Formats: sequence, C-alpha cells, structure tokens
Amino acid sequence: MRGLNPRALLLVYVLIALVPVSLLFGEEARGTATIRLLALGTGLAALALLFMQFVSSGRYAVLSGRAGIDRTMRFHQLAARLVLLLALLHPRFFLIPSSFEGLARVPARAAGMFTSPRLLSGVVALALLVVLVYLGVLRNRLPVRYELWRASHMLVAVVVGGAALHHTFSVGYFSSFGFLPVFWWALAAVAFGSLGYVYLVKPFRLLRNAYRVVSNEEIGHRIRELVLEPAAPGRRLEFDAGQFGWVLLGQPPLTLLDHPFSISSAPEALPQLRLLVKARGDFTGRLHALAPGARAYLDAPHGNFTLRGRSGKAIVLIAGGIGIAPVIGLLRHLRARRDARPIGLVYGARNPSQLVHAEEIREAAQELDLQPAFFVDEPPPGWTGGVGELTGDAIRQALRAAPAECLCFLCGPTPMMLSCRDFLRECGVPRGQIVFERFEYD
Ligand SMILES: Cc1cc2nc3c(=O)[nH]c(=O)nc-3n(C[C@H](O)[C@H](O)[C@H](O)COP(=O)(O)OP(=O)(O)OC[C@H]3O[C@@H](n4cnc5c(N)ncnc54)[C@H](O)[C@@H]3O)c2cc1C
Repeated sequence: MRGLNPRALLLVYVLIALVPVSLLFGEEARGTATIRLLALGTGLAALALLFMQFVSSGRYAVLSGRAGIDRTMRFHQLAARLVLLLALLHPRFFLIPSSFEGLARVPARAAGMFTSPRLLSGVVALALLVVLVYLGVLRNRLPVRYELWRASHMLVAVVVGGAALHHTFSVGYFSSFGFLPVFWWALAAVAFGSLGYVYLVKPFRLLRNAYRVVSNEEIGHRIRELVLEPAAPGRRLEFDAGQFGWVLLGQPPLTLLDHPFSISSAPEALPQLRLLVKARGDFTGRLHALAPGARAYLDAPHGNFTLRGRSGKAIVLIAGGIGIAPVIGLLRHLRARRDARPIGLVYGARNPSQLVHAEEIREAAQELDLQPAFFVDEPPPGWTGGVGELTGDAIRQALRAAPAECLCFLCGPTPMMLSCRDFLRECGVPRGQIVFERFEYD
C-alpha cells in the first residue's frame, strides 16, 4: 500500500511539536516561572504545529496514501483547532499575574501587549489565524466559490506563517538558543516549500500528465461519464482500483483549480480512464460544455479506497448516488481479475435514471459470484428493487461470509455512510474491515 504508516506519521508530528518545547526543560530555562514556561511552551508548540499544517493538506499521497484522504483532512481540521487553542493560550499565559494584586493590571497589560509595535507580527499572526480557522470551519456555509476560498486559505496561511516566524525571531525568548533557529528555518522551508511544490512545481509536472477527453456523455440524470486517454501515447497511470485524482478538465494546469474525482475504471482498462461526475456546483454543472478533444490534467493516484493490502473472504460494496464512482471501479477490477469471492453490492439512488451502470452490474453478476441489490427513493411503476434508504436487511444479505471476514467498502452521502457503518459494526464487522471514501470533508 502506498504512503507512510499513519501511526508513525502521528509520532513524527508529536515529536516535532515537542522538539522546541524540550528547550524549556534545559539549562536556559532554569528558574523561569511555571506560568511563563507554559506561555513559552504553548507558543513554541503552536508555531511548530502551524508549519505542519502546510504539509497535512491532503496533497501528498505519501502522507495520505495509507490514512486515506478523509482521515488526513479530518486530522488537518482538528490539528488547526489545536494550533489555534495553543496560539490563544500563549498570550493568555503571559497575562496571568504572578500575584493576586496583579489581577487589576491585567486589562492594561493586555492592551499594552496587543498594541505594542514590537509584538505587531505576533498579533497579526494570531488575528489572522483566528480568521483562517473560523473560515475553514465555516467553509461549506460561505457564499464564496470553493476556488476562491482555497486561494484565500492558502494566502492567509502564508501570511500567518510568515508573521509567526517573524514574531518568534523578533521577540521569542528561546529562538536564538541552541538548535532552535535552524529548526525554525528548516520547518518554515518544509512548510512554504510544500506549498510552493503543490502550487508552483506541480503545474509543470501536470504538463507531463496531460490527457485528452475522448468522450463526455450524460449517462444518468445530472451524471456524466468522461473517458480520458493520455495525450502522449505510451503513458500509463499506475493506480489501484478505487483511487481518485485531482483533475483539471478543459482548464489550464493550475493546481488551484483542480477538483477531486474517483477513477471509475479499473487499471485493466488502461491507458483509458473513466470518471463519473455528478453536476453539483459551478464547475461540475458546466461540464456538459466540455467537448471531446479538450485537454485534461490529472494529479493521481491518491486515496486508499482500494483492495491493496486488505483481505476478506467476502467483499461488500455499498454505494449511494455518485458514490458508485469508486465502487464500480472496484467491481470492474474484481471482474477483470475474475475474483472468485462472494460479493454483495447494495446501490441506492434517487431514481432509476441515476442508477448508472446498473446493466453492467447485472452483467457482472453473470460472471462473478455477485449479488446486487438496487434501491431508489422514487420508484417508477413496476419497480421491483428496494425503495427508500438502504435497509439493514439488504446490508445483512450483502454480508456473504462471517461478518468478521467481510471486507466492506462504503461511498455515498455522509449520513448514509454513517448509518451503514454503524449497522455493519452492529453486525460484527471489525472497524478495520470497513473502508470509506467521503466526497466532502465537513
Ligand atoms: C476523494 C474525493 C473523490 C470524489 N469523487 C467524485 C466522483 O467520482 N464524482 C463526483 O461527481 N464527485 C466526486 N467528488 C466530489 C467532487 O469533487 C465535488 O462534487 C466537486 O468538486 C464539486 O465542485 P463544484 O465546483 O461543481 O461544486 P461546488 O458547489 O463549488 O462545491 C460543492 C462542494 O464540493 C467540494 N469541493 C468543491 N470544489 C472542490 C475542490 N476543488 N476540491 C475539493 N473539494 C471541492 C466542497 O466541499 C464544496 O462545498 C469527490 C470528492 C472527493 C473529496
């Protein structure tokens, strides 16, 4: 399986936060009051973790390959809250008076702190960090285009990082001690370098991963299937069924504009790749105008919604709506390699016209030991499949071996995935045997 071990990465993350803090236990800090040590420690840890945020943004397959993009992004979001908490505690601890009498002077000291020209860069970093995290948490509710949010998120993050670095070198008590200057410059180089790599270097690398749109057809209500092939003959993407790519369609190779889409074809169909795209917003809603022959660019493969490194006596595939995209990729792969394991597939959509590739799934059932079950919310007259939400019974029937030995893949709307996951857990499927792909991060 691609990517580094998530536990090892977490350990590295904690160690990096602890490296500057360790100075507080050294000679230089002897005699420093505990409250002051806390003030310094929270500031040092906040800065180290702030820089780590730049690399945990989900764009490095080596970091998110094994953890998966969902967990990586969740980590990024939770870690942002931790950075903010530490950064807020940093001045707060400085303001805690050493004696009861000092309490009355706290407001004046706070005012002095936040208006001091010497501390300006620190105040700017803190204020913008609050804005950054707040707008990150509210992202899905903001009336701005995702691309605009993303560009502003990146730019504000750079300013916060730069201002915080300036603050630590201009007023930081320990910044000139020992290895700390080298440590901060190295961490800043990794942080800003990773951003530069994603937004400045990757576009050039994308030029080598140019594709041509072979076809772009509406195959279901508001669902299009795109077939891509490499612009340069002989190039083949190495990927595992179920993975996704950051895709640019009919756009210049700018990372800032790309969108994540699962690859719905199997590696066996290379060099061609397929994508299933549901019209959802401004970008996906305009794809009907994308003509065959248009250029496409792909930063892939990413994600761990794959069979690689996982085993199970039976496979369970559960898809809701456009969640069929990576699921059909897995099914196509299982079919291509004539997998003999029992497979249960439960696939739900709003109406039959959105149950894309249903015929292909039925055909696959002739070749594989596959039991498909289809669900729709709006059944037409004569519909013989399931109606409404994916039921426990259908999922139970899809478990075609002892629950502990089933390998389950879930992709669809978040509430559906959560209820299916809970049901699978109740049935006895171990947590590690349930693999998710979420199409949104919050
Ligand atoms: C790992 C992954 C795989 C996906 N696979 C598929 C797929 O196979 N088929 C499919 O139809 N959809 C897929 N999606 C969802 C798809 O990326 C979004 O629906 C699409 O980007 C929406 O763009 P929009 O501008 O049309 O809509 P908007 O209305 O602008 O966005 C709707 C929501 O999509 C998300 N989004 C928008 N742009 C981006 C972006 N550039 N990067 C990350 N998230 C974004 C945001 O959460 C946003 O709130 C996948 C998402 C992820 C995370």
